[in-house]
Amino acid sequence: MYSLVECPNCGTKVATQVKCWTVTPVKHSANGIIPEFRIGIFKCPKCKSKFRAKVDTTTTGAETNVKDLVVKLKEINQGLTQTLRTLREKITTLETERISVMVEIEKLKKVAESRANALETEVDQLRKELKSLRELLGAGDEID
Ligand SMILES: [Zn+2]
Repeated sequence: MYSLVECPNCGTKVATQVKCWTVTPVKHSANGIIPEFRIGIFKCPKCKSKFRAKVDTTTTGAETNVKDLVVKLKEINQGLTQTLRTLREKITTLETERISVMVEIEKLKKVAESRANALETEVDQLRKELKSLRELLGAGDEID
């Protein structure tokens, strides 16, 4: 996260800060944003000398963090778009299936209706036959 600072005494790259603080300049910059920077006290692990150095990691670090966030957000957004696309495709497929199932149901209903109608006609026909048979036998309504 932190960039390395060179030891002014021996040139060793020092990463760890003993202490650090944020400095906010009183003067406003042209765009009104006050650029903050951090000052750190470093201790060289090689020559053991302590030195102060400006740590420009808050701005660059923040920038990379923002870049990372933007990349992450883009990934999330892409994922969401992908999910939405998949869902939309699924919905379309399901709607098509629903329509075909409903068409199938309608067909079966019609088949069932026509079968019921046919049976009704057949039953009527049989009743008529039964009636004429009764009349033929002269039994009238006595035979049940
Ligand atoms: Zn040193």
